[in-house]
Amino acid sequence: MGKRRDQAMIVGNWKMHKTRQEALAFVKELRQKLTEPSRAAYLAVPFTYIEPLAKEAEGSPIVIGAQNMNAASEGAFTGEIAGKMLIDVGARFVLIGHSERRNLYGETDEIIRKKIRRAIDDGLPPILCIGETLQEHESGKKEEVLRRQLSACLEGVQKAEANRICVAYEPVWAIGTGRSATAAMAQETQAFCRQVLKDLVGVRASADLPILYGGSVKPENAEELLKQEDVDGLLIGGASLSLASFSEIVNHRG
Ligand code: PEP
Repeated sequence: MGKRRDQAMIVGNWKMHKTRQEALAFVKELRQKLTEPSRAAYLAVPFTYIEPLAKEAEGSPIVIGAQNMNAASEGAFTGEIAGKMLIDVGARFVLIGHSERRNLYGETDEIIRKKIRRAIDDGLPPILCIGETLQEHESGKKEEVLRRQLSACLEGVQKAEANRICVAYEPVWAIGTGRSATAAMAQETQAFCRQVLKDLVGVRASADLPILYGGSVKPENAEELLKQEDVDGLLIGGASLSLASFSEIVNHRG
């Protein structure tokens, strides 16, 4: 089945940026700038902004989500946050296993698998982030790494649950470096991921399990990336902080 470019998922990841005031002004202005009201724009924002931004986005195609959650449903986990708490304040999706979580906070595939399971059970759709490091890339281990991450993190996910998750392929060497994968490279890698996902969860159609590309996406390269058959959307860090860049990508997706 061919994909619909105009339905590509565009997801911003603000990381630990913006004041509350800046965040509110961004969403208010983004609402005005969205030229096609039926096409969603997703923003993964700091926890404390989820509730005010979800309210600000009500009745618009802007979907607010979180950048992380704990694998437990509740308990003695000082400083952590549960999926149900995120839903309670208006989050409608959550990023899981971003490379910064893996590298800076020691998240393993096993921890990520538990978070994915919890997010699915809680009803908070997860976007699973995977990707190889520069060293793995240069030593020809990319496919081995991606296959390992996908099978470990999605272990136990049933075919009927697949439509509640997304995968984001984010080569670690492309995140925040200004060095994006070429469109051809992203296509080849994501076609490989698609095949692995078919073997693992029995799902092939992009509409049922979208695969996003992330890593130094800008308005200048977004269009070419989205033209690729197996690039169903984009996960955008730096360029999602700028209203001009983010709205340009959202409005020119198809
Ligand atoms: C990211 O953090 O997920 C990301 C893709 O960042 P950037 O777009 O800045 O490379």
